Amino acid sequence: MLSVGNERIRIEIDDLSGGVAQIQDLAARDDVIKYASAAGGAPFEIVCLDGQGRRASYVAGPVAGGRALAGNALYMNHDHVVRAGCESPDCAGRADISCRWQVDVPTGPDGASSWSISIDNNTDDLTVVEVLFPMVRGIQLGPDSADEVLVFPHHAGEKIVNPADAIASDRYMRFWRAGTALGANGVYHREINYCGLASMTWMDLYASPSDGRSFGLYMASHDPSFVLTGVRSETGGPNAPWCGLGFRKYVPVRRGESWESAPFALEVHDGDWHFGARRYRQWIRGRIDLSAVPEDLAMQSSMCPRYDFKNGQAVHHRYDEIPRMYEQARAEGITHFFISGWNRQGFDTDYPEFVPDMELGGAWDLAQGCEYVRDHGGFSTFYINVRLFDLESDFFPTLGRSWSIKNHDNSMFRETYGPRSFAVICPDCGKWRKWVADTAGWMVKAFGARGIYLDQLGSAEPFPCYDTGHAHAHHGLYNQGYLKMIRQVRDRLLALDPSSFLMVENCGDIYSQHVYANLTWNGSLYDEFFNVYKYTFPEFIQVNMVNPRRIADKAERSSWFYRDVARAFVLGSVFWSELGDRFGEEDGDLLDHFRAALRLRQHAAAYIARGVYQDDLGLEFERGADDSSPTAPPAIAASRWLLPDGPVLTLISNPRQLSGLEIRIDGPEEGAWTDCANVGITCRTLCGEQTESVVPADGNGRVTLEIPASGLSFFAVCPRGGETDA
Ligand SMILES: [Zn+2]
Repeated sequence: MLSVGNERIRIEIDDLSGGVAQIQDLAARDDVIKYASAAGGAPFEIVCLDGQGRRASYVAGPVAGGRALAGNALYMNHDHVVRAGCESPDCAGRADISCRWQVDVPTGPDGASSWSISIDNNTDDLTVVEVLFPMVRGIQLGPDSADEVLVFPHHAGEKIVNPADAIASDRYMRFWRAGTALGANGVYHREINYCGLASMTWMDLYASPSDGRSFGLYMASHDPSFVLTGVRSETGGPNAPWCGLGFRKYVPVRRGESWESAPFALEVHDGDWHFGARRYRQWIRGRIDLSAVPEDLAMQSSMCPRYDFKNGQAVHHRYDEIPRMYEQARAEGITHFFISGWNRQGFDTDYPEFVPDMELGGAWDLAQGCEYVRDHGGFSTFYINVRLFDLESDFFPTLGRSWSIKNHDNSMFRETYGPRSFAVICPDCGKWRKWVADTAGWMVKAFGARGIYLDQLGSAEPFPCYDTGHAHAHHGLYNQGYLKMIRQVRDRLLALDPSSFLMVENCGDIYSQHVYANLTWNGSLYDEFFNVYKYTFPEFIQVNMVNPRRIADKAERSSWFYRDVARAFVLGSVFWSELGDRFGEEDGDLLDHFRAALRLRQHAAAYIARGVYQDDLGLEFERGADDSSPTAPPAIAASRWLLPDGPVLTLISNPRQLSGLEIRIDGPEEGAWTDCANVGITCRTLCGEQTESVVPADGNGRVTLEIPASGLSFFAVCPRGGETDA
């Protein structure tokens, strides 16, 4: 056994197999690997294609050399790999691919370690196409797997309670493109690709058992190449409730070539997932642009999307109704008008033929409609999908087929939405990118659009593409293709209108840096926790849907609606406020609530635009029970925001309008308010007037206030003499 460690973390590697035998959190006195038999052999697997394009998985052969290195590191060398399922030394499935991997542990008190792998392909006939590393299995933090929580970067984030159980459940097995699969080895795995379906390349597992102790484990790929990466979580299921965490890199190592990974981080911590968010942010800062969006966009509180022009092959509204539809939004104080279902044959049909539809009135009426919006204080964003080609399109045989993503066996990726099926197009196909940029530019130039919404870009599944006729140098450059597309479209639009902008469906850190906003969702019944992306990247604006859902039961529809509004408010998100027929005749109370919530959001807009979201850090309040059932009243939720030069904003949801409860709000940093004996409080509630008061800060520079008995409210807290004016 070889080991490496510091004051906080100790890692043991089996010097025969290369298996990760133990990871100890010395501060928490916890053995992270509690299921040694699940931990298995060396923590990598590689996937190769042979000369006929057949795919096969290989695992490590025995350790040929393992040793401790100077500088607190372990080095392991495997001079060959063997076909998975063929691990005996005499097996004919041996391949001359040597793998060397290393674990570095910086000395000191931090629980950090850095893992990397390099691969030499000495075969005559195999090409390595995927490397899974480090795949650490057999994990359980603390005494009981039921106490564990996994923060997972599916879209804007998930917080999965008891992941060993949840991920193996039918519920997660049915989770569409982000679902769990059961492997032949009996291991449940859930792997989503970055960048798109996964928005970031980090995960955090933590546990806070009732005995007061806490445990945390951060795992991340710190890879500045941003290559296509699978983010993988595993479990042995209810009877073997361990977790496994790992990353898959889509990289080519052709015969005679070598490849070396960027570092992967594995760090134990004190059990707060915010540590993971800060750690990832610390790494990615400087590698992506985190500058703020223009002020007038940052001040936006809502937008009105309309998908009901042509949808389901039926005409619902024509272009000449745009002025009336826009006025309906403007009456609610919404001036951002979002146009979808406008293209020939309507929503999810004939993509990517983004040309106006004759039955909706044609190009002239569409331009007139947008001109009306612009002339009446608003602006328009157009939806286009930038990922799909309708298989029934007249142009599919001549254009779509060659633009589409090809798997290793030259097959296309097909997806079905509604009655139509589509091929997924490769973002690094130059002709396709030109079509997107031309289409977007034309919408701005001919129709006066200000925004272009790129549907699916941060949302649907990223794939490898093996089509050698496209621009990419290898199969793992999906993300780089979309980065090129975003920049190409952005540059085209900015040249036409310096105030133009892009939006995308869902999120991805490398994409979000270039857009005004991300329409975030992931699956309401699946542990949605948008706080993860918001806390990691407070700069990136999220748009959340706040319409009554299409649920027949009034009580259930109301319950979801109040929850959706509360969540969007506390996150400081822009309201996605589809009006039209969304508020039915019996939804008058919901419409009243929507109007009041939007007014309150607008009053908070100037604070939110300048504030830095801190989630609930620095707040202390009684949350109340929340059993996450959609019909149960949710608990109190609140967020804290740091404003420039000292003030603090707190957004609060109190759905049961409880009175007599208090919230303690910390100053911007410890002791920041102690010199000002009194602080000024600006408070607003739903339908209430703004109130101002002065209260004493306590000796620790904090204030304790009574939570308003209002469904939604906010406090702006400012040291006296400071500036709280929005
Ligand atoms: Zn391609």
